[in-house]
Formats: sequence, C-alpha cells, structure tokens
Amino acid sequence: MNRTRFSFSECTIAPDLPQHILKKYAVSEDMRSRAVLGLGITDLCNLRCPFCYYRQDSSSQKHSVMTAVFLKHLLDGVGRVGTIMVGLEGEPLCHPDFPTMMSLCAKHADNIVLITNGLLLNADSVRVLNDCKVSSIILSCDATTSETYRKMRRGGNFDDFTKNARLLVASSNALISIHSVVTKDNWRELIRMPEFLNDLGITHMSLTQLRNNEWSELNGIYRSSYEEIQEFTMSVCREAEKRGVTIVFDYLYADRKMWHWLREALASFSCVKSEFSESCISPWMSVSLLSDGRIFPCCGDIEPVFPENINFEGIFNNKVLLKLRYVLSGQNFPEVCRKCLRGEYI
Ligand code: SF4
Repeated sequence: MNRTRFSFSECTIAPDLPQHILKKYAVSEDMRSRAVLGLGITDLCNLRCPFCYYRQDSSSQKHSVMTAVFLKHLLDGVGRVGTIMVGLEGEPLCHPDFPTMMSLCAKHADNIVLITNGLLLNADSVRVLNDCKVSSIILSCDATTSETYRKMRRGGNFDDFTKNARLLVASSNALISIHSVVTKDNWRELIRMPEFLNDLGITHMSLTQLRNNEWSELNGIYRSSYEEIQEFTMSVCREAEKRGVTIVFDYLYADRKMWHWLREALASFSCVKSEFSESCISPWMSVSLLSDGRIFPCCGDIEPVFPENINFEGIFNNKVLLKLRYVLSGQNFPEVCRKCLRGEYI
C-alpha cells in the first residue's frame, strides 16, 4: 500500500474510552461463521490504475509481500472464519507464492473470495483456484471497449482481459462476477456492461462509485454527478433486467441521501440484489489485514494499525473497531464516517 497520508487516526474516531465501555462493542465467538477477513497479500500490482485508492504515491519503490510463514501464523491464531477475501491493496496474482497463500486460506474459511484484475490468470492459476475451492472470483473491469479499458486500467490490455475471463468461465468452479468503478468518464459505456457479460457468459456484476482521492484527480478521473448516476443506474438496470444479469450495488455506491432514491427507483427491478441500508455495518462484519500486518479497519480513510494480538480477539475486536462500533451506535458520528456516508474521501 503506497498511501502515505491518512486524514484520520484512531484518536480522531473517539477519545480513549474505559475498557468496560469498549468491551460492550466486542463481537463474540458466535460471529465467526459470518466474519469476513479481507487480506492484502501484497501491494505489488501489474497495473497503474489512475484512480486507485491504495496507490496515491505512485513514486514509491517500497513494496510489501506477506510471507507464507506470517499468513500461517495469522490464520492459526485467528482460527476458522466464514469468509476470507483475498485482494485488497495490490494484485494478489503478483504474489510470488500465490498457490501456497491460497491453499493456506482454503484451510481456514468456509468461503474464499478472490478479487483480481484477471490479467495474470492462466490455466495453472485457475487449477489452483479450483483446488482451493475458491467460491467466488470478482474480476475488476470498468470498460467494455479497448479504448476505455486502456484509460481506466493503465498497463492492461482489454483483449487479454476478455480472453482470461472466457478461460475462467470455461474452467472455474467459482461464481464469477465483474466489479466496476463508475466515474464521470465511463458511466455511459458501462450501461452496456450487461451485454458484454452476456457475451462472456457471466451472470453477475457489482458496482461502486469512484472515491474522490488526490491521485484520481491528479489523473483527471472524477466522480459522476448525482444526475449522471441516476441516469446511469436506471439505464444499467434496464439492460441487466433484459439480459438476465444480477446487479449488486456496494455500500459505497451512493451517499445516504441517494439510498432513499435508489430504494424507491429500483424497487421493481428483480435483477437488483442490494440492501440499501442507511447504517454502516462494516466494522461489525469485517476487517482487512494488509500485507505488512496492519489492520485496515474499513473502507474509510482511517490509518491502519498493528493489532495487539494475532488472534480472533486481537483482529476482530481491535480497539479501532471497538471505537467505530461505539460511535456508529450513537448520534455523533466522527468526521471520517460523516464524510464516508456522504461519499467524500479526501
Ligand atoms: S461509515 Fe465509518 S465505519 Fe462505516 S465504512 Fe465509512 S468510515 Fe468506516
């Protein structure tokens, strides 16, 4: 992760609270089967996407690669959880020992999810994914033409992506879906994503919106306007309905004001499988661990911290998460959450 600056730290979420208060916000062992552990196994990446949230300091030459020894120590300590999601921070297939990392994960979770740009997939890696019983593969792609793909996925080739997506569809046992970031530049083109998915033989897609960040703005990639997103949402849902494609809008797709509109506008679409919840449940369900061993508490802008203990308690009931659960249970949200719920990230 090349980000060097975070606007918020543990101290800005809430003041230090007595242990007996924090303890009330701990999740219990019963939560294991629903817990989601996100894993960044490396921050190496084969692309230089101009809007990447993790890579705002592209000049950094330092990279981090989680070792298999550390991953085993981590997973033995945490124990079995419901889902391990591999793929934040960098491109997981850039990890020099991807097969070992995946097979370790496979022993510790009911569901394994892989998020990848797909460009490094080949017959061998698909075999590894099948052997590890990966249940879901999410391919990141924000274009349906070579020209836009080249712009959004700098360093990538659309024909290679398409070839690998077809290989996966033909030989993987996992549920395959495409995840797209909607921006001012590509929203018109993304209306055709369901048609592209039909051609690939993929039946599921998910959508999020660009998070404003300095790196994307430096590269001239901007968030769509409210009106553009409304027009896009209706158009892509009509296309998906017609073509039998399921759509999930992730919890960062819209700010809370827009959730009201989405809930009503999309009520009649059977292709939409999203709960438009106004509250944030992220800190109760999931935590992400970066390749350098730090915990990334949620998708906000909060500085990662090293866990005090490498076990279920230390990871899922870390002080930062306890504080987040505490503030989200009250009326006075910290600035980071207020910004996040408005779709602002800078
Ligand atoms: S609302 Fe707060 S806790 Fe939830 S994802 Fe955003 S920053 Fe994290």
